[in-house]
Amino acid sequence: MTERYEDLRRGVREVCSRFPNEYWRDLDAGRRYPEEFVGAMTGAGYLAALIPKEYGGMGLDLSAACAILEEVNLSGANAGPAHAQMYTMGTLLRHGSEEQKQEYLPKIARGELRLQAFAVTEPEAGTDTTSIRTTATREDDQYVVNGRKIYISRVEQSDLMILLARTTPLEEIEKRSRGLSVFLVDLREAEGLTVKPRRVMMNNATSELAFDGLRVPAENLIGDEGAGFRYVLDGMNAERILIAAECIGDGRWFVRKATERACEREVFGRPIGENQGIQFPIARAYASVEAASLMVNKAASLFDRGEPCGAEANLAKLLAADASWEAANAALQTFGGYGFDAEYDVERKFRETRLYQVAPISTNLILSHVAEHVLGLPRSF
Ligand SMILES: Cc1cc2nc3c(=O)[nH]c(=O)nc-3n(C[C@H](O)[C@H](O)[C@H](O)COP(=O)(O)OP(=O)(O)OC[C@H]3O[C@@H](n4cnc5c(N)ncnc54)[C@H](O)[C@@H]3O)c2cc1C
Repeated sequence: MTERYEDLRRGVREVCSRFPNEYWRDLDAGRRYPEEFVGAMTGAGYLAALIPKEYGGMGLDLSAACAILEEVNLSGANAGPAHAQMYTMGTLLRHGSEEQKQEYLPKIARGELRLQAFAVTEPEAGTDTTSIRTTATREDDQYVVNGRKIYISRVEQSDLMILLARTTPLEEIEKRSRGLSVFLVDLREAEGLTVKPRRVMMNNATSELAFDGLRVPAENLIGDEGAGFRYVLDGMNAERILIAAECIGDGRWFVRKATERACEREVFGRPIGENQGIQFPIARAYASVEAASLMVNKAASLFDRGEPCGAEANLAKLLAADASWEAANAALQTFGGYGFDAEYDVERKFRETRLYQVAPISTNLILSHVAEHVLGLPRSF
C-alpha cells in the first residue's frame, strides 16, 4: 500500500532501525526510560514536528506527525515516551503568551528542555476531570499548589510539566468547567512536590504526585485564569488522532508478525498458516486496521484544513484502538505459547497496546461522545 510522507517515513524508519526489539525488550525488563531513543528522535527533529519553524521546529502538519508515530510503533518500538513531546507542547503553542513561546519552544525543539508531562488525573477524579481537587491559590506574584495527582507519565524524565489545577473553588462558579487553570511547572526547581513512582502493566514511567505548597510564578500561568479546562479540551482532537496513528502502527506490526509466524511455524508437518482457523483472524485484523487507518487519515486531513473534526477524531481513536487490540489478540493466538514469551516481543506489544482502551481517554468516554454529540442521544452524565 502506498503511504503518504514516504520520505519522512523512511527517515523515521532509519532512526528506529538503530533501536531493534532487543533494545525495547531490555528496557521493558528493567523498566527503564528510552533515553537513547528519545535523544535520537529529538536530534533528528521528529519530536519537534509540530513546533512551528519560527520556534525552531519542523513546522509539519498533524498528518505528518501521525506518519512519524505510526512508523515508530510499526518498527516494534513504543512511541509513548516520544508522543507527549509532540502534543503536550500544543497547550503552550495554542494558548501561551509570545514570551512563553519564545522562552520555551526553541529549547524544547533543540532538546535542551523536555516537556513530556501533563498532569490532569487525580485519585478522586479520572474520567470526571472537572472534579479535580488540586488547587492553585494566588499569593502576590505566585500561585501556591496543593493536592494530589496520579498516573502522571514521565515526570521524572521531564524538565517541565503542564498542570491542571482549580483556581476558583467549585462553590464560587456557575459551571464546573470554569475555574480551572493550566500552569507550566518547572520540575527542576520544584520544592513542595513529592514524586512517587507507580509500577504499571507496561514500561511507562508513571508517578503519583503530592503537592504541598509548591510555588509556581504567576508568569507561568498559560492563557487566562479559569479557562484551563477549555484549553485541555482544545488539545483533545490532536491527541486522539496522534494516539490513533500509534494504534495503526501497532496493528500493522501485529499483523506482520502474525503473518510471518503463520508461514514459518510448522505443526502437524505443515505451516500453521495453511489453516483457515489461523488465517481468518489475521485477515480480519488486517481489514480492521486498514479501515481504521482511513478514518485516522480523514480526521488528520480535516484537522490540518482547520475544519471541525471532533466526530472523526473520536471515531479514529475508537476504531484504531479496537483494531490494534484485535490484531494483538490474533498475533498472540498465532504465536501460541511463544506469544507469552518475552523473547518474541508479542507479549510486550500486547501490554502496550492495551493501554489505548483506557488512556489517555477510555473507549467508554469516546462512545459516550459519539452517542451524545454525533448522534444526538440524551446526555447521560
Ligand atoms: C499508564 C498510564 C499512564 C497515564 N498517564 C497519564 C498522564 O500522563 N496524565 C494524566 O493526567 N493521566 C494519565 N493517566 C490516567 C488516565 O488518563 C486515566 O486512568 C483515565 O483517564 C481514566 O481515569 P480513571 O483511571 O480514574 O478511571 P475512572 O474514572 O475511575 O473510570 C473507570 C472506568 O469507568 C468508566 N466510566 C467512568 N464513568 C463512566 C460513564 N459515565 N459511562 C461509562 N463508563 C464510565 C471509565 O471509562 C473507565 O473505564 C495514565 C494512566 C495510565 C494507566
